Amino acid sequence: MKIPVVQKIMNANDQIAAENRARFDETNTLVINVMASPGAGKTSLIMATASHLPDLRIGVIEGDVASTIDADRIAEAGMPVVQINTGGGCHLDAPMVKSALDELPLDDIDVLIIENVGNLICPAGFDLGAHLAVVLGNIPEGDDKPYKYPGMFTDADAIILHKVDMLPHFDFDVEYFRAGVQKLHPDIPLFLVSSRTGEGIAEWGEWLLERRRELRTA
Ligand code: MG
Ligand code: ZN
Repeated sequence: MKIPVVQKIMNANDQIAAENRARFDETNTLVINVMASPGAGKTSLIMATASHLPDLRIGVIEGDVASTIDADRIAEAGMPVVQINTGGGCHLDAPMVKSALDELPLDDIDVLIIENVGNLICPAGFDLGAHLAVVLGNIPEGDDKPYKYPGMFTDADAIILHKVDMLPHFDFDVEYFRAGVQKLHPDIPLFLVSSRTGEGIAEWGEWLLERRRELRTA
């Protein structure tokens, strides 16, 4: 006799992601999974966001294949940070994030930013327990990324087009990029940001604060 399986059985990653999320909700910590290709400026964006919002207590998990370069930058800026080295792995998963949580003072962190491994493909396939996913495009890498890597952009909650101070030096069509994003996800917020000049940081920061207020009243 066949027994019909009506409930989707959670895989091990999703199970631990749900545990992570419950822990974040308990401590009122808004958690954001930041994804982009290598060199998109994820770490610089975190630093610029933190200096724009000095009253917001930001913590960071840095995912990289190797090194503590990014975590060292974040620590120097005074934020609590844990570096995860995947040792060759091309994305973070929920158990890796879970293992980092005991080293972070979650009760004292308003927003935890998880900087995923630089990669535009598989990080989107692994739930970490974050509340929101933010994907960065950037000017030097070209305006066709939403067309070539749709999975990453489809499931995001906001898109940042980063390094817009470079626009005068590249043939980057912002409207073509925007159209590619909106075709996948019509109402998604798209922020044009330069962490170097500070352009767009205020708008992005306002969105972040709004999401934080939503979590607190939920
Ligand atoms: Mg980085
Ligand atoms: Zn991967």
